[in-house]
Amino acid sequence: MQLDPRTLAVYTTAISLLLAVLGYFYGRSRRVYSGYQCWVASLLCFAMAISSIALRGLVPAWLAMIGPTALGLASLVLIGEGHRRFSDMDTPRRVPVTLALLTTVLMALVYDPQQPFQHRSIGAAGVGMVSIAVGWQFARHTPSALAGAGLCCGLLLAVFGLIRVARGGQFLLADSGFDVLAPQLSSILSYTANAVFATLWGFGFMFLSAARVETELDASRRALRELSRKDSLTGLLNRRAFFADARAELERARRYPAPLALLMIDIDNFKSVNDEHGHPAGDALLLAVSAALQAQLRDSDVLARIGGEEFAALLLQTPADEAMRVAERLRAAVAATCIAAEGVPVARTLSIGLAHDEAGKSSLEQLIRQSDAALYRAKDAGRNRVSI
Ligand code: GH3
Ligand code: MG
Ligand code: MG
Repeated sequence: MQLDPRTLAVYTTAISLLLAVLGYFYGRSRRVYSGYQCWVASLLCFAMAISSIALRGLVPAWLAMIGPTALGLASLVLIGEGHRRFSDMDTPRRVPVTLALLTTVLMALVYDPQQPFQHRSIGAAGVGMVSIAVGWQFARHTPSALAGAGLCCGLLLAVFGLIRVARGGQFLLADSGFDVLAPQLSSILSYTANAVFATLWGFGFMFLSAARVETELDASRRALRELSRKDSLTGLLNRRAFFADARAELERARRYPAPLALLMIDIDNFKSVNDEHGHPAGDALLLAVSAALQAQLRDSDVLARIGGEEFAALLLQTPADEAMRVAERLRAAVAATCIAAEGVPVARTLSIGLAHDEAGKSSLEQLIRQSDAALYRAKDAGRNRVSI
């Protein structure tokens, strides 16, 4: 088998067409983004640009000369426009379009059938510069989650562009007897570049689209997971997340023995807030109380809203006497917390039940039972106090 420009042109046309069809149906059956169809169209244009070389002799000579270049330019402009939409860029990119129009006009102006390499060199260099400009756009403006993929596409366009510019330089030096389709090394390299570009770009834009779907799915999975752990009113951990995290911390305290304490926290006479000031005032007080609790605890402590007006806090690496001081601090902070319900100040106190464990020997259930019992004692003893 011999590699010659004609065979390469046939291959390039076929692969561009096939990948355009594949890309089109892929885009119809899957989630794709704005701009994707521009990329499908860019492959079609590329296929037409390469295949129209075969029209020489069938259509007017000037059309056979300028047509393929114009189609090639259109293909690159479509790649850039697709990328602009894909990347949610507001302003149109003027450089590729201006360069493409300038190239076409210049080619038409200098067109001279006696000196075919004059306008051809302009065409090849113009295609190269547009490709470099679009490559720059990919490298600079692809969404950051896909920066690596954007850089690869940018590099592909830049390398292809440089090869086209070099081809333009070669045309500038060529004499009128130069046959571009003869199987010489420079032409084989040039047509190989077309073939490689069409193949890589055809797969590249589908990968780019699929990669974006994946990164967005990952992000929404993470967000959903976070959301499923949070209490919607206060933003604290919810009951389920508290049990999961507390169990893990207890396991750790068992492995690397460390003291810890569990506080069961309940707002006193909270129901009367709703009854006297309305449910929104109750919500506002819940928010203020959770902010006050959070402000008093360390980031490493596990604080959660485990029921209507009930909270739980697991204090890590905290011996009983220190936990007692922390609980008192929480009680004092919430007692000093006041909201205004239509101008009327509203405040409530806390009752806290404390259970502690010196070396991770208790189970979570034991700690909860003990702290619950202590909480009941605090309520029975008149509320607004800490029981151990
Ligand atoms: P005690 O001192 O014995 O704990 O009395 P209490 O009134 O605080 O306790 P009780 O269990 O009788 O009432 C709790 C109230 O908390 C009942 C419920 O309407 C209210 N509540 C629970 N969740 C929410 C909420 O998300 N928003 C508001 N506004 N109220 C809530
Ligand atoms: Mg309660
Ligand atoms: Mg209560």
